[in-house]
Amino acid sequence: MAAASGSRQERWSLAGATALVTGGSKGIGHAIVEELAGLGARVHTCARNAAELEESRRQWAEKGLVVTVSVCDVSVPADREKLMDTVKATFAGTLDILVNNAGQAFLKPAAECTAEDYSHVMATNLESSFHLCQLVHPLLVRASIAGGGSVVHVSSIASYLGYPGLVLYCISKAAMNQLTRSLAAEWSQDKIRVNCVAPGAVTTDILKQVEPEFLEQEISRIPMQRCGEVEEVASVVSFLCMPASSYVTGQVIRIDGGRTISA
Ligand code: NAP
Repeated sequence: MAAASGSRQERWSLAGATALVTGGSKGIGHAIVEELAGLGARVHTCARNAAELEESRRQWAEKGLVVTVSVCDVSVPADREKLMDTVKATFAGTLDILVNNAGQAFLKPAAECTAEDYSHVMATNLESSFHLCQLVHPLLVRASIAGGGSVVHVSSIASYLGYPGLVLYCISKAAMNQLTRSLAAEWSQDKIRVNCVAPGAVTTDILKQVEPEFLEQEISRIPMQRCGEVEEVASVVSFLCMPASSYVTGQVIRIDGGRTISA
């Protein structure tokens, strides 16, 4: 893969790039859309709730950010195909960046999980990411951004830790880490970089599913003694998409205030 040359300004910019971010109507995805668009990219995002998506689009337009939206349930293969048709039409057959962010937590003891639970969590978090990577591959091969096209997965520190009651979520995220390494090795020859971020507890709706006592205990184990903010994830994702990170591929970067390195 060619090194990204150019001025400092060009290496730390996404001007002219095109990006697809899944799950951008709320939380971490919303912040990623805003950060990429703020750095000059044209961004398309999706979610299931049309009203929330449209409200986000309106807010971004007010800020002068170029963002288009469409409804898509990433757990449904036909929806993923339709999403790609929309992206191709929106960006005239080009794409430089895919961020697989849409995902759901799922709390249930392992012994009680059904085959349907397993299929649903895997379809939403893992299969969607793999299939969207396959669908964008022909576009990313032709990416015009310096440093090559980029995929960034949003995994979790739950991919490293054994949280009781979170088995399906944990294994789906651990597989995303390996998907990152496997695709990075295979697609380097296509000038596509594949990286991953693994956030710890970040203040979004997803944390509302967690018992307050559990969250308190979790925060007590974080050296920085607080949850992360969505912007703190979005900035790392943006760096991984920029020419500035042109020699970084196959990495899973933990954004967790030190949670996974503390004794
Ligand atoms: P969130 O606030 O609940 O937002 C999730 C976003 O994804 C929403 O826009 C949601 O919109 C969309 N979404 C969910 N399921 C979808 C589906 N099947 N198809 C399309 N869109 C879907 O969650 P978040 O905390 O920002 O989480 C984002 C990612 O970060 C997830 O992959 C999560 O596992 C990961 N993560 C979060 C944390 C944390 O503490 N917050 C920590 C580690 C990793 P709709 O509901 O309208 O579809």
